[in-house]
Amino acid sequence: MSRYKEFWKNFEQSVLSAKRSIEEIEVIAVSKRKTALDILTVLQEGHLSYGENQLQEVTKKWPELRLQYKNTKLHFIGAVQSKKIVDIVTNCDVIHALDREKLVNIISKLDKSLIAKKDFFVQINTGSEIQKSGVDLSYAEDFIQLCRQQGIHVSGLMCLPPENEQPHKHFQILQSLAKNNHIESLSMGMTNDYDIALKYGSTHIRIGTAIFGERS
Ligand SMILES: *Cc1c(COP(=O)(O)O)cnc(C)c1O
Repeated sequence: MSRYKEFWKNFEQSVLSAKRSIEEIEVIAVSKRKTALDILTVLQEGHLSYGENQLQEVTKKWPELRLQYKNTKLHFIGAVQSKKIVDIVTNCDVIHALDREKLVNIISKLDKSLIAKKDFFVQINTGSEIQKSGVDLSYAEDFIQLCRQQGIHVSGLMCLPPENEQPHKHFQILQSLAKNNHIESLSMGMTNDYDIALKYGSTHIRIGTAIFGERS
């Protein structure tokens, strides 16, 4: 059985035990630091949703792959530098990590018809970690309001729990923040904790290792 099929079997089990339904969850195959050839094997399995965290990798690998596989959806899951935000929005379908006013200001000045085709998620620093990107929890609701005032529809929230902690609390915080602010999607859960994230309502799980193997 391929690694992808193996993952999918486990994923279906996790969906069942979380009492969720599979159609409400998007599996983002995180292909960062993997080659176009690695990605092709997963495309050939019929998988359409991918995630990258570097603009350079997006522009290097994806234009050609997307010529062949036209229905792929590309998620930008990394930290966003303001000088790259326009290219990121142009080249990707979903941006997972809006986390500061400067990005919002730049995006709000882009062509309305371009913005309307994209989905934007706000990254929340649920653990208030100094070194981590994401909007601090205490400022989260104000930031969501700011996005909306600037004409950006916030489709979802995203978080990366601190590595040395159990993720449950963080997933729960994100879930209630989304509920209180009428936000439909939750980008949370990776290879090691997606089964838990599904129990807290995750709609977008970001899976690298379980689909592509260890990264070098
Ligand atoms: C690398 C990465 C992932 C995937 O991690 P795995 O543990 O390999 O599944 C998910 N989300 C983000 C933001 C990442 O940078």
